[in-house]
Amino acid sequence: MKNKYLYIETFGCQMNVHDSEQMAVLLKDIGYKTTEDSDKADLILINTCSIREKAEQKAFSELGRLIMLKEENPNLIIGFAGCLAQHLGAKVHSRVKEVDLVFGTHNIHRLPEMITAVQKQRKKITRIDFSSKIHSLNVFAPPPKGSLCAFVSIMQGCDNYCSYCVVPYLRGPEMSRTPEDIMDEIQKLTKHGVKEVTLLGQNVNSYGKKMDHGCNFVSLIKKIEKIDGIERIRFTTSHPKDLSDDLIDCFASVPKLCEHIHLPVQSGSDRILKRMNRGYSSEEYLRKIDRLRDACPQISITSDIIVGFPGETQKDYQETIDMMEKIRFDSVFSFKYSERKGTAAQKLQDQVSEAEKRRRLKELQALQDRHTQEKNSALEASVQEVLVEGRSRNSEQDMMGRARSWRIVNFKGRPDLIGKQVFVEITRGYLHSLRGKMINR
Ligand code: SAM
Ligand code: SF4
Repeated sequence: MKNKYLYIETFGCQMNVHDSEQMAVLLKDIGYKTTEDSDKADLILINTCSIREKAEQKAFSELGRLIMLKEENPNLIIGFAGCLAQHLGAKVHSRVKEVDLVFGTHNIHRLPEMITAVQKQRKKITRIDFSSKIHSLNVFAPPPKGSLCAFVSIMQGCDNYCSYCVVPYLRGPEMSRTPEDIMDEIQKLTKHGVKEVTLLGQNVNSYGKKMDHGCNFVSLIKKIEKIDGIERIRFTTSHPKDLSDDLIDCFASVPKLCEHIHLPVQSGSDRILKRMNRGYSSEEYLRKIDRLRDACPQISITSDIIVGFPGETQKDYQETIDMMEKIRFDSVFSFKYSERKGTAAQKLQDQVSEAEKRRRLKELQALQDRHTQEKNSALEASVQEVLVEGRSRNSEQDMMGRARSWRIVNFKGRPDLIGKQVFVEITRGYLHSLRGKMINR
């Protein structure tokens, strides 16, 4: 039988990357091998993101490029998946007639059956219904050969309805996987050589709250800690309003939990936080940061910030800058507010001009770069535990890995160190990485 090839293009967050891995596993069962070469493909899937307008534009421009391949190969099947597919549904077919299949975030597990139907009947398919059960997350995606780190989705969806955000509409209500399914997946990952897991969810702190599994996020971490072969645990994303003292204490009491938390603040202005429906004040956020640093002084704290939310005045923006000065994050992902159809913020007045958003973002990023550089320079002469992941991109003789704080560390070393935890004394802190020399301990 002739090999059939699958080409997947993924946009957006870690959740989408993970969804794409699951798609590849499901399609392998019906004979598709993945390829990096779109020209060779019999099936192309574009897994889209809808969080900001730019992400949507990128997906459509890539689709525009890939549909040209149908001229050479009329049997090529093109599927449009993910958040933007969930949002637009059948409209994608009317906009781009070459698309055969549109499916949303709750229909991944149906992929083999949908592809078979397209092949047999050559008809257009749209599946964007929401399911009341978790199906797709329980598909086991073996990690690529040699991977030491893996992402494990512990929940799907979100109930928070931050006023700017499309996620609750496109990924559905929050649902947690059972601890048994999660543990089973991690056990399997260790058999493939995985040593570090990152637990994924839109708000991992509320894991288990709505389900009757008898397990909350803290007890889940403590269960995972007991799995032989797992050396490091990380998680993302935490919502500040649900960050409990018990979870904060884990940074001091659970040795396998890495000292890093991504805790999106979004704004330093109470007025804007309220309009964003975030459920905490700037003071409450600062108190959580103090608690985290009391429990674990070396903890690395990263965040997300949006500038130019409707109604954000210069004073509100200045409050975000003041908060950044007070906290000094280790690093920040920052975005210009992007209006999203169907969200509560879409109805708000007082839009900030594009030029002003651009100005605020540039200034804020320059401030954060200064903080990140100062933090990284301050690590010079410190010793970091590094899980060696592979060769560095910088030079043939260099190896790279991540410190427990999530920073990339490059150092001179041998490939037989891959998979080991080593100690590296930092000789230089750069903006995006650290450099050092390996030491024996
Ligand atoms: N659930 C996570 C949280 O609450 O932090 C992450 C959600 S989202 C995938 C990642 C980030 O995108 C958010 O933290 C927010 O800063 C940003 N974001 C979401 N909607 C946005 C919008 N409409 N415009 C600009 N940035 C947005
Ligand atoms: Fe979006 Fe807020 Fe949910 Fe994060 S917590 S996914 S920002 S609604």
